[in-house]
Amino acid sequence: MAFRWTRAPSARQGRRVFAVFALIAGWLTSAPAWAETAIRSVAVDGGRIVIRFDGRVADATGMVLAGSRQIAVDVAEALPGADAAAGGLISGVRQLRQGDGTRLLFDLAGPAVIGDGGFGADGHSLTLSVTPVSAARFAAAAAAGPVSFMAFDFGSWSTKPRYKLSIPVPPPARGVALPQVRGDDSRPLVVIDAGHGGVDPGAINPDTGLREKDVTLRIAQAIRDELLATGRVRVALTRDDDRYLVLRERYGIARRLKANLFISIHCDSVGSGDASGASVYTLSEVASDKEAARLATRENKADVISGVNLGEAGADVSSILIDLTQRETMNTSASFARLLGREAKPLIPTKPVFHRMASLMVLKAPDMPSILFETGYISNPGDAAFLDSRDGREKIAESVTKAVEVHFARQLASR
Ligand code: ZN
Repeated sequence: MAFRWTRAPSARQGRRVFAVFALIAGWLTSAPAWAETAIRSVAVDGGRIVIRFDGRVADATGMVLAGSRQIAVDVAEALPGADAAAGGLISGVRQLRQGDGTRLLFDLAGPAVIGDGGFGADGHSLTLSVTPVSAARFAAAAAAGPVSFMAFDFGSWSTKPRYKLSIPVPPPARGVALPQVRGDDSRPLVVIDAGHGGVDPGAINPDTGLREKDVTLRIAQAIRDELLATGRVRVALTRDDDRYLVLRERYGIARRLKANLFISIHCDSVGSGDASGASVYTLSEVASDKEAARLATRENKADVISGVNLGEAGADVSSILIDLTQRETMNTSASFARLLGREAKPLIPTKPVFHRMASLMVLKAPDMPSILFETGYISNPGDAAFLDSRDGREKIAESVTKAVEVHFARQLASR
């Protein structure tokens, strides 16, 4: 018999190692489906275009380019593939690599627009009908901007988190009741958090007295209404009135509801200067720049206002498993932030650098993708008027809704 120099690993340790392996394996294989999806064929038949993919694609965007008399179709999740022969209304087809995806350019023999279109049920094909129109309608379609197509409704969404690891949800600190969840049970849940409230007014416009806590609540309600109107998601608000919540309670509520996405709504503010525009923050222990650090200091201060003890929930974030989960969550949060940028830029004023990272208390849930949306500067007269107008709220709600739809469609496609 050979000498045994080391103690054999216990069954318990073995299981733990296996759990780490399973998590890492799940993490690696959960890379987005588009990483290897390509365009298999493009068929043009009279006024009909059929684009086929060799994997699942979640969404695409079509638009009319008046200057070059073309229709462009952007597919962010598939690489260029086989070329197509032109025909009918289409006099030429090209595929250009665009970031991680493809732009298909269809040269038009005459003015024409995308009549309607949609994905096949499995997300493997996109069919568009192209209709000839007058020069005036062609120009109008170009001015109207992009149209998006989505492959999935989210009825097949499982409420079970896909993480191998479940991290216990701590009990609420002082008996905070869970808010009402609206929408169909089979849909993913978005929790919208209106920043500040109650004794904490947030930033205040020095000229008009407009308070951040009132603006964020109205914006959160507008986003809820717009999201519910799609029928694709469930929605809850952390607060639906003027009340004070500790930062940890905000994401705590969302975690106890098992939210699939957490969006905290705020307004930025500077003492002087004319800074303006919206931006989005995701969690990082290291701020991406000075401004991000300044913002984290200001927003994290909310808990100090009512003298709440900020003791760290250190045990929450101690193991490698939680680190991995948190890293995946941070990646998912960052990709949602980029999507929100894409959808927000055509609709609302945004800052030149839209996505920043900071150590924000409200984003610290390790297993729930979270963003903080600074919708604009309450200290800037133009921004403040926009943020407090019905039009402004609707545009903010529209950009969030479009980003949320694409986000969950892509999550489904990557399963
Ligand atoms: Zn704020």
